[in-house]
Amino acid sequence: MVVSGNKILIVEDSELQRRILIRWLTKNGYETIEADSLTGARDIITKDNVDVVLLDWELPDGTGIELITELLSSAPTGWLPIIMVTSHKQPDNIKLAIEAGATDYISKPAEEIELLARIYSSLRIKTLQDQLRETAIRDVLTGLYNRRYINERFEQEFQRCRRHGHECSFAILDIDFFKKVNDTYGHDTGDRVLKILATVLKDALRKSDIIGRFGGEEFVILFPETKLKDSINVLDKIRLAVSELEIVAENDTSFKISFSGGLAGGDISIFNEPAEILKIADKNLYEAKSKGRNCLVG
Ligand SMILES: [Mg+2]
Repeated sequence: MVVSGNKILIVEDSELQRRILIRWLTKNGYETIEADSLTGARDIITKDNVDVVLLDWELPDGTGIELITELLSSAPTGWLPIIMVTSHKQPDNIKLAIEAGATDYISKPAEEIELLARIYSSLRIKTLQDQLRETAIRDVLTGLYNRRYINERFEQEFQRCRRHGHECSFAILDIDFFKKVNDTYGHDTGDRVLKILATVLKDALRKSDIIGRFGGEEFVILFPETKLKDSINVLDKIRLAVSELEIVAENDTSFKISFSGGLAGGDISIFNEPAEILKIADKNLYEAKSKGRNCLVG
């Protein structure tokens, strides 16, 4: 089996058991990280990029089943394979674990070859899951997130920021006179304009900002933990830079583009749901358009 440094989290309160598992895994090219409680495991899963979890049933602060249930309901990291490694080997327990969401199940004492085989099979499923998820959440042309993903993330970030009393801002951008670009220079050039704007946004914004294409020439940005004023400032710099770009068309003539933007949010404690923020941003975009375009309203 070929293994390239996949990271395996071992959640097990017996030090002896942990040491055995770590020896087997490192010998076979895996990277390991360990936790002796649910609390420790939660911490690692949210901060580290874990590929597979080996999970004990009985832990000092709860059961492995609780952790599985929790991970499935919050899905912080996409899909994560969890293999229960336990001495609870009655069929009822196996059924319970699999129904809770465990990917697989190994009885203690585990055997090295069986453990490796099950990890290998979990990783194969994870690779497919990851590819599927990428396809499902990306806009094909620009590689930005698609509308479905943005809606989902907006809901999550909205709840998270509200819970912590943080601000959160949202922007909708629309390329000005985009139809004219397509009509004058052709759709290939139009597509290139969309890709250029996507690249400019990705390069200029922070890694924590979530950028998507809503469809057509409409882009959206979610700024978690960001004041409205700060998001306007950063977008206005980008707006200026974009309006100065020279785009070269296929017939070697060059032209300029610009975008208008509507922003909303900031203190989100006054809103009940992200749709309300979106509606204001949309209204502000409309105002930016009617004010003469190439400007932001927020
Ligand atoms: Mg235990």
